[in-house]
Amino acid sequence: EEHKPHVFVVLGASGDLAKKKIYPTLWRLYIDGLLPENTKFIGYARSKLTVDDIKEKCSPFLKVQDSEKDKVEEFWKVNSYVAGLYDKQADFKNLDTHLTTLSANASRLFYLALPPSVYDTVTSNIKSSCMTKVAGCWTRVIIEKPFGKDLDSSEKLSKHLAKLFTEDQLYRIDHYLGKEMVQNLLCMRFGNRIFGPVWNRDNIAAVVITFKEPFGTQGRGGYFDEFGIIRDVMQNHLLQIMCLTAMEKPVSMAAEDIRDEKVKVLKAVTALTLDDVVLGQYQGDPDGKTEDSKKGYRDDPTVPKGSKTATYALACLNVANERWDGVPFILKCGKATNERKAEVRIQFKDVPGNIFPDGQLKRNELVMRVQPGEAVYCKMMTKVPGMAIGAEETELDLTYNHRYEGVKMPDAYERLILDVFLGSQMHFVRTDELREAWRIFTPLLHTVESAGGPTPIAYKYGTRGPKEADDLARKRGLLYTGTYQWKSLNKL
Ligand code: NAP
Ligand code: NAP
Repeated sequence: EEHKPHVFVVLGASGDLAKKKIYPTLWRLYIDGLLPENTKFIGYARSKLTVDDIKEKCSPFLKVQDSEKDKVEEFWKVNSYVAGLYDKQADFKNLDTHLTTLSANASRLFYLALPPSVYDTVTSNIKSSCMTKVAGCWTRVIIEKPFGKDLDSSEKLSKHLAKLFTEDQLYRIDHYLGKEMVQNLLCMRFGNRIFGPVWNRDNIAAVVITFKEPFGTQGRGGYFDEFGIIRDVMQNHLLQIMCLTAMEKPVSMAAEDIRDEKVKVLKAVTALTLDDVVLGQYQGDPDGKTEDSKKGYRDDPTVPKGSKTATYALACLNVANERWDGVPFILKCGKATNERKAEVRIQFKDVPGNIFPDGQLKRNELVMRVQPGEAVYCKMMTKVPGMAIGAEETELDLTYNHRYEGVKMPDAYERLILDVFLGSQMHFVRTDELREAWRIFTPLLHTVESAGGPTPIAYKYGTRGPKEADDLARKRGLLYTGTYQWKSLNKL
């Protein structure tokens, strides 16, 4: 593979995702020498642009070091750009001719950095005009969420794609699957005897998977309002993390073995109802320190008046299988909260037959922090050091910055795009997985969005979200004591 030529086509090259993520990722992979030697990059969009235009749009996001100045010129030299419509087959024929001229014997990757409204026509045109016909070469197509808005629309898209491509040609990106800690879940669980045997309903009281960000819609509320936080974060990113946390040990590390286990978990999950969720919407904080924090969701001029779209959601899922039945998997996500954080928290049950003074023992927790600052820590009890014999809370701590000082963590997109070159589908969402994910959320989404749907609970910008969310989590079995103290010796 290393010496075989490849062409990487960015469809929608004029857009936001292309300049902020895809070109910077391609550049990183290029400068790090991770791509096959003979790779060429082609932008395609309706706008009549040149490579220089793309270069200029991307330059604030490329992060080129002084020592890389020559290399970046080389990178742009292996770029080209083709203008064309998305629904005109002749334009895709033209793209095909361009690709063949660049590299007659190349495998082809197509990245759809486009609004979902054109996915159907663009994929049809790729199929009819742009597939490689060279023996030994392949064509792969990468698509971004949203993969539909509910079960029906997602199935429609999946059926359309299945008519055009085989599953091994399709790469559905969920960039959370490219994060270090998310990928580490498999190793933590299946590479450690100390965790494997206790990973079940006998020992675990609750699992919490959290995503929070400390800012609001920042003027992009119009886009967000069509989807809401459940579709934006929970149904994809958090659910994917949940699958990796809950699944049985796969037969091997092969992509299909892992994806088989993920699907099984999803199949065991009961569809959500309104009783399982708390929804919130942020309001401006009049005392807020920034302009953004003074504005509530509905103060964003791009948000429809009186919108009932949730910007915070907590949902309790039940995996009704022998390992997990009754253990709440609490997924929570929110905008305009008190901090930026993504983590997986496993809360263990109380120790039976307590011999310590009442209330002294606190539940163990194993926390894997995905961002910011990767860390794994285990909250545990230890004897109070010194003369005393009582127990107190402390931690076993693995902070990546200390333990792996100087190790550069690749960005999620870098890992995933490289995976596509390598043909590894381990970290991509399979069609049956996606269907199950929508099955779990669709009835809830339809209820929430029906005429009589609930009004989200207001919470103040910069807080942890509505208190009703904590109440529901507690009712389902999560215990928060607030007694744990973290002493940071080193800067994170
Ligand atoms: P975008 O900038 O709105 O669109 C990409 C390009 O598509 C535009 O430059 C435009 O190119 C063309 N386009 C825009 N609207 C169109 C329309 N109505 N009909 C036909 N062509 C149209 O989109 P994006 O933010 O890059 O996102 C691309 C995809 O990635 C979307 O599916 C989005 O949901 C997903 N995504 C984006 C982000 C992000 O950070 N932006 C993050 C996650 C997922 P021309 O006019 O030149 O053809
Ligand atoms: P924490 O951030 O204090 O929160 C623990 C959990 O309790 C979170 O799920 C949190 O929910 C919830 N919670 C917080 N306040 C609550 C309330 N009033 N009612 C109900 N639930 C509440 O985390 P921690 O694990 O105990 O750690 C404490 C601090 O030490 C954190 O800042 C952590 O990052 C730091 N620490 C760092 C390292 C390291 O970097 N290696 C190691 C150990 C600890 P939300 O997420 O929704 O707020």
